[in-house]
Amino acid sequence: MSGLILIVEDELDLVATLEFALEREGFQTRSATTVDTGFTAATTSPAPDLILLDLMLPDGSGTNLCKRLRAEAATRETPIIMMTAKSEEVDRVVGFEVGADDYVVKPFSVRELALRIKAVLRRRKPTEAPTVPSRFGRLRVDTGGHRVWIDGQEVVFTALEFRLLTTLIARRGRVQTRDVLLNDVWGVQPGITTRTVDTHVRRLRKKLGAAAIYVETLRGVGYRFTAEVPDEKEGAP
Ligand code: CA
Repeated sequence: MSGLILIVEDELDLVATLEFALEREGFQTRSATTVDTGFTAATTSPAPDLILLDLMLPDGSGTNLCKRLRAEAATRETPIIMMTAKSEEVDRVVGFEVGADDYVVKPFSVRELALRIKAVLRRRKPTEAPTVPSRFGRLRVDTGGHRVWIDGQEVVFTALEFRLLTTLIARRGRVQTRDVLLNDVWGVQPGITTRTVDTHVRRLRKKLGAAAIYVETLRGVGYRFTAEVPDEKEGAP
């Protein structure tokens, strides 16, 4: 995964550890050690894709910086993960009051943090413009008109099924976990009813008929719309 991560943390050895680990994962990093320099670093171009924010900084608290960043147009939507030494602060930090996206309690494993970062970045991704091809093998999709044809025959999809199908097609070749689909298609918090996803994918496949082969199941992971139209025998129905 790529992206620029801003680390706002005054423990320099932790900063060095994070920089090393995140750069190894393919991220770029920028760092600041105070609330003031953190604010500047967050609002400097190129804008960071995510901010790791320590709760206790020498010139103030990370929660205040978080609130300031949420009030600023440029950083209103930037994902923020708080790093806190006190688990009792967590409710406030990720709650409405401060507006962070997630948190880790010190001492945390860098591996765990990297996973959280990726999860948060993936959640924020759906703002990218989806590209749904109008034709894909046996499928024809009219995104504007919400219509689908399979082998030239129109099939009626519910709004939800249509959203599920177009989300999968737009991200073809990329695995979509049930949590990601719940978040992006249903708009609900991940982790509660992942079975819903399986039920709807089953229905979607039924309607897709011969085109159902494009929707692959990755056992224990999620679903993937095939990247390329698979070869089918000449003259196949
Ligand atoms: Ca600190």
